[in-house]
Amino acid sequence: MKYVGAHVSAAGGVENAPLNAAAIGAKAFALFTKNQRQWHAKPLSEESIRAFKENLKASGISANHVLPHDSYLINLGNPDEEKRRRSYDAFLDEARRAEQLDLHLLNFHPGSHLRQISEDRCLQLIAESMNMVLRETEKVQLVIENTAGQGSNVGYSFEHLAHLIELSDEPDRVGVCLDTCHAFAAGYDLRGPQAYQQTTAEFQRIIGFDKLLGVHINDAKSELGSKVDRHHSLGEGKLGIESFRHLMRDPRFDEIPIVLETTDPKKWPAEIELLYSLAKA
Ligand SMILES: [Zn+2]
Ligand SMILES: [Zn+2]
Repeated sequence: MKYVGAHVSAAGGVENAPLNAAAIGAKAFALFTKNQRQWHAKPLSEESIRAFKENLKASGISANHVLPHDSYLINLGNPDEEKRRRSYDAFLDEARRAEQLDLHLLNFHPGSHLRQISEDRCLQLIAESMNMVLRETEKVQLVIENTAGQGSNVGYSFEHLAHLIELSDEPDRVGVCLDTCHAFAAGYDLRGPQAYQQTTAEFQRIIGFDKLLGVHINDAKSELGSKVDRHHSLGEGKLGIESFRHLMRDPRFDEIPIVLETTDPKKWPAEIELLYSLAKA
């Protein structure tokens, strides 16, 4: 079964996210558990935590289908030790917030080398921070997102993601989130049966679908292999509806949160409906 939703707003408190998800017909959702553009956040209040759990229950959405996303400021691969430490502290806080909310997943962008160190060294630094967070937390799973390869971001190749899993002290607590727009911008085609088959076979060979813990389902404004990260509404970009039809009919994408990060939130209810209809049609 497919579980589709969107990255909904948590404005006014995390407890509002499940309400916002239910209102658009979502069976899954993503959220920021703090302001994604600020370093510091007040701890979650007892009241907010309780209301989140109540609202989640009322929404009928399982915690397995909630994919919190970390702050955009965090760069676990930062070559500067002090700045990397700041990112690590913020990342650990994100992981603890997820656990406080009884959520099992934390989705994050791996990091950037800022053209000061090699990609390999950058991946090593990211893995070190991941291992430290795994030691400091109980059960939250770290979900590495593939990137478009924009700027000096690592994580644009399946090999990068596989390498991070390989470097993990607790590989059972590490998985990946596949962003369709980022994959396309990084050169992985999903259009047409042959390209879809080839890209997913490569994913299986290098990472494995058992490691797939979430999907960001986005069309792409940018071209294949452009390394430019520009999301678009489904069917309006270069990926097109056929790519999403393949994915929605592929049982390897069952049981995980499939989350829209498309550009027009007003279209989300229709996009969710569209995706469910593609799964059936
Ligand atoms: Zn994404
Ligand atoms: Zn993106």
